[in-house]
Amino acid sequence: MLKGRNAVVTGSTSGIGEGVARALAAQGANIMLNGFGDAAAIEKLRAELAAKHGVQVFYNPADLSKPAECAALIADAEKRLGSVDILVNNAGIQHVAPVDEFPTEKWDLIIAINLSSAFHTIHAALPGMKKRGYGRIINTGSTHGLVASANKVAYVAAKHGIVGMTKVVALETATTGITCNAICPGWVLTPLVQKQIDARAAEGKIDIKTAEHNLLAEKQPSLRFTKVEDIGGVAVFLCSPAAQNITGISLPVDGGWTAQ
Ligand code: NAD
Repeated sequence: MLKGRNAVVTGSTSGIGEGVARALAAQGANIMLNGFGDAAAIEKLRAELAAKHGVQVFYNPADLSKPAECAALIADAEKRLGSVDILVNNAGIQHVAPVDEFPTEKWDLIIAINLSSAFHTIHAALPGMKKRGYGRIINTGSTHGLVASANKVAYVAAKHGIVGMTKVVALETATTGITCNAICPGWVLTPLVQKQIDARAAEGKIDIKTAEHNLLAEKQPSLRFTKVEDIGGVAVFLCSPAAQNITGISLPVDGGWTAQ
């Protein structure tokens, strides 16, 4: 379905981004991977996706906390892939602490990576998308873009910002062949969430399974984690013909979290 389309997926060396990159490649899209991690593991992922799906796959190590590197990532993708038709802004980090103890440098970093980087990549990719009259921009939001939790001030602020930015970009591009949407996952079992489960287990002196259950029971009525493959499937749907007139939405994939 996406044969010949070129996609940039930020933060695709792990977790949700990797799941989205795999799903887009399986539909025939060429991929620019991005994110941190072990060089050999990243090369293995790159080569595997290219061989399995017969698509071009490149990797760019841009640090998205830096605006110039966000712009350079898009320029590099346009150069090596030929265009950026699909842009998935997914890179993100978490830090958990009460507001009055929240380290200033963590606030700045989370806002830079989880919010500002999406502005910088969209800013850089939009002119090409407008020229070609086609674009699919997908931002990884979160249930924390729709509701809040204690101790996540920077993350919740950034994700609410993503939801707002998604709407503005959708309005400005409404007649151009470009759509912009956010996917808002609840709990997905990735390294980002595993850290929070491990911290709960250590703090409460409980085993990992109990910590997992407690984490889910607090927020996610389905009591199941969303899978990275599920988010990949939703991203593919937002790139599908059926979604051509869906723009500006923030779609919860959250086992009922935000229905409460
Ligand atoms: P993850 O830790 O598995 O992956 C994060 C990715 O971002 C990695 O590839 C990492 O290398 C990359 N990254 C981090 N800092 C970067 C930087 N400065 N520059 C470039 N890349 C950087 O986490 P995940 O759970 O897959 O999270 C992906 C996105 O999904 C994030 O935006 C997160 O907020 C969001 N999200 C996750 C969940 C969840 O339950 N896991 C829920 C809602 C939203």
